[in-house]
Amino acid sequence: MRVIRAKSAGFCWGVERAIDIAREYAQKGRHPVYTDGPLIHNRQMMEVLTGEGIREVGDYSKQEKLDVAAGAGEHPVMVVRAHGISPDRRQYLKSLGMEFRDATCPDVGIIAGKVRLHAKRGFHTVIFGDAKHPEVIGLLGYTEGHGHVVASKADIDALPDLGSNVCMVSQSTMFTDEFEILGAHLKQRFPQALVFDTICGATKDRQADVVELHRQGCEAIIVIGGRHSANTVKLAKLVELQGLPCFHVETVAELDLKALQRYTVVGVTAGASTPAFLIDEVCKQLEALP
Ligand code: SF4
Repeated sequence: MRVIRAKSAGFCWGVERAIDIAREYAQKGRHPVYTDGPLIHNRQMMEVLTGEGIREVGDYSKQEKLDVAAGAGEHPVMVVRAHGISPDRRQYLKSLGMEFRDATCPDVGIIAGKVRLHAKRGFHTVIFGDAKHPEVIGLLGYTEGHGHVVASKADIDALPDLGSNVCMVSQSTMFTDEFEILGAHLKQRFPQALVFDTICGATKDRQADVVELHRQGCEAIIVIGGRHSANTVKLAKLVELQGLPCFHVETVAELDLKALQRYTVVGVTAGASTPAFLIDEVCKQLEALP
């Protein structure tokens, strides 16, 4: 079997940076290294990080209070993950009395900055994304109570009259095509709306690479990554939109080798939170097929 691996498959720079920051503390002997919710949406990588002393606490989506009283001899640190947090959550985490380190992806920081600036100028902010995703929850915190999350044209139609000061941003991992359609729809309702394409470069590269795998003749595409990882699920959906069979797996053990044997060329891609070792294992297994 011929296997074509997408150039962008695996960690994006924002995820890699957050992991490096947390690991740096752990390697320096700082224990525990806490993260407010999972550092990344990948179970296998989280297991590796837990073994290194990096400990996920609480469930940020629920904005829970954390139970992180330091034990004897412990010198803990709190690392904010790549998805970012709201200003209220930041204040809360800083009040815990331990070192605080922000590993929010700079691309998410840029979106938060735009939302914050426009909220201060009296704008309503429409966020295209998943209302339950930590990035969106964090961004909503910058809207000063004037934030609205939309995922469809119907959601835009259902918005109240927001006047003329309206802006729109996107969760960093959404589909570009859908954002353009919804941005245009929002402008029909609110002609003066400012629409900012805030889908990150890493997401755009991964989506473009799926189209490229199709163009290179792949008959099916394997997407590796967590089933709760937003960008991985989107990649799988994009493969299906290309009209190609999609095999979404978390690990090599889930590969349906019998079904895959009917193809001669397959593509492999992976979400931004999928570690290289999982991708290597899948590619090796596929390359061994006749
Ligand atoms: S997907 Fe984009 S915004 Fe999210 S962490 Fe990666 S580079 Fe940053």
